[in-house]
Amino acid sequence: MSGSLTIVGLGPGEAQWLTPAAQAAIAASSDLVGYGPYLDRIPAREDQTKHASDNRVEIARAEQALRLAADGKTVAVVSGGDPGVFAMAAAVFEALEAGDPAWLALPIAVEPGITAMLAAAARAGAPLGGDFCAISLSHNLKPWEVVTVRLEAALAADFVICLYNPISKARPWQLGAALELARRRRAPGTPVIFARAIGRTDESLRVLSLSESIAVASSADMATLVMIGASSTRMIAREGKSPIVYTPRSVTKSPCATSQGRT
Ligand code: SAH
Repeated sequence: MSGSLTIVGLGPGEAQWLTPAAQAAIAASSDLVGYGPYLDRIPAREDQTKHASDNRVEIARAEQALRLAADGKTVAVVSGGDPGVFAMAAAVFEALEAGDPAWLALPIAVEPGITAMLAAAARAGAPLGGDFCAISLSHNLKPWEVVTVRLEAALAADFVICLYNPISKARPWQLGAALELARRRRAPGTPVIFARAIGRTDESLRVLSLSESIAVASSADMATLVMIGASSTRMIAREGKSPIVYTPRSVTKSPCATSQGRT
């Protein structure tokens, strides 16, 4: 078996945010595996086969990629953003652990990509300058109760919170519920960022206050990354331009003092 498998991050959007290493891994592959819209971002080549699949069949897609590699193909599994952040790399390793022991001999590598929260943070200023965390609001893969326990803990610890998968047609209410939880712990003027399709031609960045964000929660969609500021996150207003959002690196207040002050 002379095949190999690389799990490649495409970055958040256009090709300029694809790393040269990720590009080289794609160029070197005979077979590309991934969710259709991600594969569509890669120009077709006659000597490469694309295996497109639905977004929901991650483990099946991972097994397919491992089987192709075991058959001697040079396989690239592609993911948007970074493949290790709420994406295909974990699915591949889950399939590897549970699958054919012969697959363990395959060369497997992960090529990182720019994850959505880093792209969004760069557009907004420096909101991740202090401690932060990332939570996926999708409860396809975990109970909603796990999401709320983690959100409560992150709010109590005064992290900047990045919300991936904030909303979808099948999950219309979770973002509103998450922002309501935030409202109980953070001041109404706390900056909240709705960063949509960052790095693509139709990108948009909205900087709101926490109370405004609750009113417009349903305007977010699957291509939106939501960021809730910590108590120290600040906005610099600019005439005719969107404000800069940043979180200073130094923290002077204990999070316990912050949460006790508000509950
Ligand atoms: N692996 C991806 C995340 C997959 S989860 C990454 O590292 O970015 C999918 C979620 O990521 C979306 O629902 C959205 O919240 C976020 N996302 C992905 N691309 C984005 C982009 N270009 N702009 C804003 N958010 C994005």
